[in-house]
Amino acid sequence: MTLTDQYDVLFEPVRIGPVMARNRFYQVPHCCGMGHLRPQAHAAMRRMKAMGGWAVVSTEEAEIHPSSDLSPYAEQRIWDKRDIPALRLMTDGVHEHGALAAIELAHNGSHAANLYSRIPSIATSHMATDIGFSQQARRAGKKDLRDFRQWHKAAALRAKEAGFDIIYVYAGHRMTLTQQFLLPQFNDRTDEYGGSLENRVRLIRELLEDTKDAVGDTCAVAFRFAVDEMLGSDGMQAAEEGRAVVELLADLPDLWDVNVSDWSNDSMTTRFQPDEGYQLPYTSFVKSVTSKPVVSVGKFTSPDKMVSMVKDGVLDFIGAARPSIADPFLPQKIQQRRTDDIRECIGCNICVASDNLGVSIRCTQNPTMGEEWRRGWHPEKIALKAADAHVLVVGGGPAGLESAVQLARRGYQVTLSEAKQTLGGRVLMESGLHGLAAWKRVSDIRIYELQQQANVSLYTESLLTVDDILEFNADHVVLATGSRWRTDGVGRSSRNAIAGLDNTQVLSPDDILQGALPDNTPVVIYDDDQCYLAGVIAEHLAVHNKKQRIVFVTPASCVSPWTDHTLEQQRVQQSLLTHNVEIITGKTVTSINDGKVQMQCVYTGAVTSVDCGVLIPVTERTPTDNLYESLVQQNISVELIGDAYAPGLIADAVYAGHMVARNFQEDEQHVAALQFLREIPALG
Ligand code: ADP
Ligand code: SF4
Repeated sequence: MTLTDQYDVLFEPVRIGPVMARNRFYQVPHCCGMGHLRPQAHAAMRRMKAMGGWAVVSTEEAEIHPSSDLSPYAEQRIWDKRDIPALRLMTDGVHEHGALAAIELAHNGSHAANLYSRIPSIATSHMATDIGFSQQARRAGKKDLRDFRQWHKAAALRAKEAGFDIIYVYAGHRMTLTQQFLLPQFNDRTDEYGGSLENRVRLIRELLEDTKDAVGDTCAVAFRFAVDEMLGSDGMQAAEEGRAVVELLADLPDLWDVNVSDWSNDSMTTRFQPDEGYQLPYTSFVKSVTSKPVVSVGKFTSPDKMVSMVKDGVLDFIGAARPSIADPFLPQKIQQRRTDDIRECIGCNICVASDNLGVSIRCTQNPTMGEEWRRGWHPEKIALKAADAHVLVVGGGPAGLESAVQLARRGYQVTLSEAKQTLGGRVLMESGLHGLAAWKRVSDIRIYELQQQANVSLYTESLLTVDDILEFNADHVVLATGSRWRTDGVGRSSRNAIAGLDNTQVLSPDDILQGALPDNTPVVIYDDDQCYLAGVIAEHLAVHNKKQRIVFVTPASCVSPWTDHTLEQQRVQQSLLTHNVEIITGKTVTSINDGKVQMQCVYTGAVTSVDCGVLIPVTERTPTDNLYESLVQQNISVELIGDAYAPGLIADAVYAGHMVARNFQEDEQHVAALQFLREIPALG
């Protein structure tokens, strides 16, 4: 066997009940903010994964009935026959490229607030709904459970009609009625569905049997099950009831899709869980209990790890949600032994944030994610140049790197010039902070590709002035010069600068990003950005100097509220508290003098103070756009992109870099027409 033959095992076909998967790459169900609201975008995104070599491509959770209505989130919907054509778009697209299509049928019990359908939710018992809506879920009676089984069966039949090959029963993420029946915290029933584990598993057994009866002749029936809630003895544990459930149902489903619960544990960010395969300690027992194939996830991106899992009998399928988003062509790249070309997920959960915000998915690593239909973007293909041109890209951050990669792919002569010693811009700097090391993959993969290209020249330690740029005489200039954090405290809560800054040591986030550390004196981090960076800086400083007094002041009502969208907020606040960071919420910093910052309560205006030797204001950024106007005045063909245009997420900078390369040399009308396609609801 040659070294490269070792990956062959990943491309063996695997039978799942009545259907055959062409290889072991399995895109497990994942949300995408498209669902029933954006069916064409959804179908094109899933189709792209099939094209990229995945053997199974799944939907997100699909509501089976109006009593499981996840509005305002845009999940999949299979309430009645009218949903079939939209789902057909996906199954046709997936089949066209030789993959199997799977659908995750779901009833969300008390997790669904039914804000659109206005039907009172059903649950194991009378209880509050998860979505923070005052109408409670009601206890499901006997008839409700009969209805529920009927709805699930009818949805399975519709799914079969829509062309799905694999149909799920889903008990995971603390989000479904079936899982709630399993968990004693939710299930206090005294009927045949409550009490013993055999009773609590009854509903799942019935659904699996119903589904097999209804569609099992041609469709495989998968069971997605969270074996552990990561709550210790307060929840389900893999070593105890988790295992017992698998033993009770062992060979009933055609496939076990196993993970941990809740969603924040299943989709843990690298900031809090950097290890590939981190779920295996919980899920790896499953294969020893069932003879049916098993899939699980854990940010798998390394082919060697995948091979060892299959060879060691840990998993039959390599499950992936985020790695398939960051690189839809991951299987094909492994098959073609192009493993260095894999765009590895960085575990930032920007994809998750889009779903939580009810908008189409986006990805930091893959700017084409979510743009397959509306802009026609392909992650691996881009139009070749219309005519020769030399493009000078100024700035080697995520925007500059991505634009250079794509312009080079198009065949242009590209020069990239970066002021610093090393390429990477903010990605490189932020990845130096505690917990963010994996973010460096954003620059690594792009620098690697640029280094392979003969039509690219890379210059570091090369700070360009207007004269330098003119001397280059490039046909086009892309300014991706980034931004600087403000140091005066102006931000979303106050447009006034903090008074008294002249007499205080101020470190900007840029200073910290470049390695500066405060003296051993009380540090006040003032977070009016309210995103992720201030929390990371607090953690970074606390880890570095355990004795340092760190006070975190924010006008928000919790630390880093934005990170709720990335499923991290609780962990961020927990980490800061564990590191003895003092947290002051609901206050703006107004002035500083005599070693104290004055703070004003955002509700009452009451003024209080706290000791401060060094202030780190994390509020707003100012674009570094000084070259732009001068170049325009010189009639230079120039564009300003990324943080230099409008500061945002790293994902936004990468997207801007991609966009500028796609649109270069396209005529303005064409670019305007390409803006993006919209899905307009049909009337009637
Ligand atoms: P973005 O997120 O938009 O890519 P970054 O701040 O990450 O922005 O990167 C911008 C990069 O541009 C930084 O690494 C910075 O050093 C570099 N840069 C800024 N001005 C110049 C310049 N005049 N010449 C060369 N490089 C520059
Ligand atoms: Fe991974 Fe981040 Fe992309 Fe999500 S957005 S797939 S976590 S790189």
